[in-house]
Amino acid sequence: MAKIGTIGTTKNTLKKHDFHIKKKFGQNFLTDQNILRRITDIASIDKETLVVEIGPGLGSMTELLLEKAKNVLAYEIDKDLVPILLDNLKDDRLILINDDILKRNIDEDITNLNSTYSNIVLVANLPYYITTPIIMKVLEESTQVKELVIMMQLEVARRFTSVPSTKDYNSLSVVIQFKTESKIALKVPKTVFVPAPNVDSAVIHMKVKEKIEPFPNDLEVFYKLVRTSFTQRRKTLVNNLSSGFSITKDKLSNTLVDLGFSQSVRAEELTVNDFITLSNEFNRDIL
Ligand code: SAM
Repeated sequence: MAKIGTIGTTKNTLKKHDFHIKKKFGQNFLTDQNILRRITDIASIDKETLVVEIGPGLGSMTELLLEKAKNVLAYEIDKDLVPILLDNLKDDRLILINDDILKRNIDEDITNLNSTYSNIVLVANLPYYITTPIIMKVLEESTQVKELVIMMQLEVARRFTSVPSTKDYNSLSVVIQFKTESKIALKVPKTVFVPAPNVDSAVIHMKVKEKIEPFPNDLEVFYKLVRTSFTQRRKTLVNNLSSGFSITKDKLSNTLVDLGFSQSVRAEELTVNDFITLSNEFNRDIL
C-alpha cells in the first residue's frame, strides 16, 4: 500500500490528509487542475443540475462540480475517504453515500433527494476494474441520467466509440451505441494521475438516446444476438449464431441473404441497426 501525504489540486484548497491508496478500489487520483476543469466543462452543468459522481476519491473533481451544480450525489465505496471528503469539501449541497455503486438503485436515491433539477448528469473518473459493469448498470437501470462524462481506459473508450469493420468494434460497441451517442472528448496521459496507472485514459461523452429507432421487438433476443455474434471474431455470423441459438445454419443463411447480407458476413461488418433488423427476424423460440 502506498502512503500518500498531500493530495490536492493546484488550487490547494484540499487539505493534507494521511491516506493509504487502495489498489483494490482502483484508486488513481486526478490532481491536474487543468484536466479536471476540462472534464467538468464537457458536461452540461448549471445551477439547476444534479451531478451524480461515482468514486469522488479525495474530492478534487467534486469540488469543481459543486461550484457549477445545484447538488452533487456522490457514491464512494471506501469508508476511509468519507471523513476526508467531508472535511475537504464542507458543503451541504454534497450528498455522500458510502456504498458500492453496484448495490444502489440510482433513480431511487435521486428521488429521495426530494428536489427538482433541470437535468441530471453523471460525471466520474471510474475505477477501471469495473468501468463496464457500472456503465451498463446506469444505462440499463436509470431513466433519469441523460448524459454521462466518464474517464476510462483509452482502450475501453475506443471500443465504446468504434465503428463497424475496425479492430476495436465488438459487442460492447454495439450495445453502447444502441443506447447512446458517444464520442471521445479528451485523451488523458497516465502521468496526470497519482499513482500513475499502467495505461492511458480518455474521457468519453455519452448522450442517452431519447428515442431508439428501429427498436428491437424483444430486448433479450437482441442482446443475446449481439453477444453471440461476436463469440469468435474469425468465425462467420452463421457459425457463431448456430452454436449459440436453436436455429439451423440453413435458416440463418437464408435470413441473412433475404436481408441483403452475404452468407459469409462477419459480425464486425454489421451496424447497430443491422443487428436490430436481424434480431427482429427471430423470436424467443431461438433462445
Ligand atoms: N474521482 C477521484 C479522482 O478523480 O481523483 C477518484 C477516482 S479513482 C479512479 C476511483 C474512485 O472510485 C476511488 O475513490 C474508489 O475508492 C472509488 N470506487 C471504487 N469502486 C467503487 C464502487 N464499487 N462504488 C463506489 N466507488 C468506488
